[in-house]
Amino acid sequence: MYDIGIIGAGPAGATLARLAGKNHRVLLLNSCRPKCCGGILAHEAQKKLANLDLSLPRSVLVDPQPFAVTIFDRQSDLTRYYPRQYVNIDRLKFDQWLISLIPDSVDMRLNSIYRGAEFSGDIVDLDSADDSGFVTIHFTEGDQKRSAKVRRLVGADGAASLVRHHFFQHHKLLKKYIAIQDWFDKDNINFDSKEDSKDDLKDDLKDDSHNINFCNDYVGIFDNNITDFYCWTIPKNDCVIVGGAFPLLPDARVRFDKFKLGINELGLKTNQAKKRESALIVRPMSTSAICLGRGQILLIGEAAGLISPTSAEGISYALASAQALNQALNSKKNILNEYKKNAKKLIWNIKLKYIKSPAMFNPFLRKLVMKSGLTTIKKS
Ligand SMILES: Cc1cc2nc3c(=O)[nH]c(=O)nc-3n(C[C@H](O)[C@H](O)[C@H](O)COP(=O)(O)OP(=O)(O)OC[C@H]3O[C@@H](n4cnc5c(N)ncnc54)[C@H](O)[C@@H]3O)c2cc1C
Repeated sequence: MYDIGIIGAGPAGATLARLAGKNHRVLLLNSCRPKCCGGILAHEAQKKLANLDLSLPRSVLVDPQPFAVTIFDRQSDLTRYYPRQYVNIDRLKFDQWLISLIPDSVDMRLNSIYRGAEFSGDIVDLDSADDSGFVTIHFTEGDQKRSAKVRRLVGADGAASLVRHHFFQHHKLLKKYIAIQDWFDKDNINFDSKEDSKDDLKDDLKDDSHNINFCNDYVGIFDNNITDFYCWTIPKNDCVIVGGAFPLLPDARVRFDKFKLGINELGLKTNQAKKRESALIVRPMSTSAICLGRGQILLIGEAAGLISPTSAEGISYALASAQALNQALNSKKNILNEYKKNAKKLIWNIKLKYIKSPAMFNPFLRKLVMKSGLTTIKKS
């Protein structure tokens, strides 16, 4: 019998296993699929790593390290540069590094797929001192069918969470997108600079030149005719990722191709992609879409719907929710109530982002904000 069964060893599950493994008997299951991700650590994620007393090893970093995000708005044809403290990482290595920090006491099954669970009784709110009741989880390890008894089941299984799907209805409130990314060799693409002549750059805030260096810049692209979320290009060592989040509709790939045609016009002439990857991405359109759990079933990270509805930044929420749940597990009080209390700040943070979102996603307001030049920097 384990105290905790964690499904998923992404940033949320691996962090919880690292923290809770010191005081509890933990089973960690993970299917070994590399995560499709932009691999940008935002300031909030860096702060959370510092707060968890973690420093990034150099092996996780990739070149270049952008100090700004370039925003291009297709509707207004404006480009602006916003200073940001980002860290550019290799997402697979980042996840592997977090897993490497998990203590040996954790029973890690990193080639296992969670299939379902059943209860010994009703789902009840347990406090940490209550030892009654358990959940039997069913999983496959390689081609072997297995099961294990756990006192609490934690869904850290990301956007397409089976745990959330099995036990909660709120998932219907999460807006779903399909993120598609193509990786291009830098050697294999033409960077056809559209930089306007210096004479035209008399006043950066008035001109609409697109001085975008796809080889070095992290670029966010807004085009409401293609998606009501956004698209991006991110340089990664010898490659450039070209990706976007599109409504989960049958024409998502057509939209992606349309987006790539659009960036060809901006100067990034893509040839054959080295690889394509895709993943579900959820977007909480209200805080009622966030579900932290019920009774013995708890959710953390993107499985709980904890992700920025504006930037899709999710790593900081994954780390923070794991820490919030660990603190609740160590308290002598009702775990779910404590977890909810600890996660309040995260939920407020998502609420505030949602309130600010029209300034990014409404074309008229976005144009006003970009025209104002507020908080932008000029590129020489
Ligand atoms: C294309 C894309 C780009 C993104 N870019 C960024 C970015 O640049 N910066 C950022 O901060 N966030 C980004 N995000 C969001 C971020 O990746 C997620 O929010 C974050 O990874 C959530 O962490 P998590 O641990 O909750 O879930 P995940 O990282 O998704 O981890 C879930 C884990 O559970 C495992 N799993 C799933 N189902 C099962 C199962 N049935 N059995 C066993 N294991 C299972 C998976 O294999 C995975 O390892 C991006 C997302 C996408 C899709």
